[in-house]
Amino acid sequence: MSTQPKIKCITADEILDSRGWPTVCATVTADDGCGAYASIPSGASTGSHEAHEKRDLDLSRYMGKGVLSAIDSINCTIAPKLEGCPLNQGIIDSRLISIDGTENKEKLGGNATLAVSLACARVGALCAGQPLFRYLGGINSHRMPIPMMNILNGGAHASNNADIQEFMIMPVGFSSFREALRAGSEIYHTLGKILKSDGKSTAVGDEGGFAPDCDSEPQILDYLVQAITESGYDTNRVKIALDAAATEWYSDGKYILPKSGEVLSKESLIERWEYLCENYPIVSIEDPLAEDDFGAWEMLTERLGKKIMLVGDDLFVTNEKRLREGVSRGIANSVLIKPNQIGTLSETMAVMNYASDKSYKTIVSHRSGETEDTAVADIAVAMNAGFVKFGAPCRGERTAKYNRLLRIENQLGASAVYGIV
Ligand code: PGA
Ligand code: ZN
Repeated sequence: MSTQPKIKCITADEILDSRGWPTVCATVTADDGCGAYASIPSGASTGSHEAHEKRDLDLSRYMGKGVLSAIDSINCTIAPKLEGCPLNQGIIDSRLISIDGTENKEKLGGNATLAVSLACARVGALCAGQPLFRYLGGINSHRMPIPMMNILNGGAHASNNADIQEFMIMPVGFSSFREALRAGSEIYHTLGKILKSDGKSTAVGDEGGFAPDCDSEPQILDYLVQAITESGYDTNRVKIALDAAATEWYSDGKYILPKSGEVLSKESLIERWEYLCENYPIVSIEDPLAEDDFGAWEMLTERLGKKIMLVGDDLFVTNEKRLREGVSRGIANSVLIKPNQIGTLSETMAVMNYASDKSYKTIVSHRSGETEDTAVADIAVAMNAGFVKFGAPCRGERTAKYNRLLRIENQLGASAVYGIV
């Protein structure tokens, strides 16, 4: 009878993310000799209901953004309690939750708990001799996600004048992930050429998309459509998605667009979304309204919920309780999945299962501050998520995840199915 390997040792390091700020990396070794590490991303437009991200607030290091306290959580609190534990993800994650003991990982930090949770999953997969997606998802994992590629950055991710945070392309009309990614990359490069020939900046924002100053949202959307068609595709095969990140705009019942200075009522913002959807091939809008503006979400879902994906990011924060509340109010129809918003892999998978039960679409997402870690790609395939959002097809921390999906698709061979059927 084979015995389940056990955790032998857990350690942690303070490393840098793609914006050059500190983040957490945990290393786990098992008693059978396998070892692996996982590192944690960090958001810029974070929802207030996210798991606590533990930072030192010591202004003498990294302007207060050091994570030595989260490293301490791992080395001094988590390691002694998990060493010797069997490599069973459910047991590990429920121990992490109970060691922390708070609603939002306030004590240990979600950055500490998730680093350990993901590193344990990687070691478990290694010990089982399986790729991570197969270890997490079993034999039913075969769906390659549609990428939502953020090719023009704005909002908190860029210093240009665009209030909407993300302008994404979605290559839906393709038979494989590989071909969809190729289309996305070609359109990205075509957009760069168009911007350059129009005298616009081709410097990029935090997620690798271009970040020029433009005259208006319609002008940006026109650029995207032009890039799609000039690359030899059309808007039946390649759609557009937006992430407004509108929590950032909300103040006292109104939406104040920080860059243009425009002030909109919720009704006029909803009308603006309707107008854009009628005039452009937009099939998804994320956080079109603020995280707690439930009444406006109800209104918007009533008007657009049958036509496009309405995605809750700050709204649901990968939290099953928040999603249950949303489902009971009938708001949104899709949920963004960011493991560091909740702090363990098991809770991430649970919210995805619940979303699927309720026919909400799931989009597995990176953060604007990233590392070279690719676990989100494996999680997407493991859970048959229909979509991923990993930024532009550019910059190493973004392409690492798209490249991981390419290798997974190869491994799946003929059993791979691209997109939603
Ligand atoms: P963040 O942005 O990682 O800065 O929170 C990503 C998003 O809003 O989807
Ligand atoms: Zn978002």
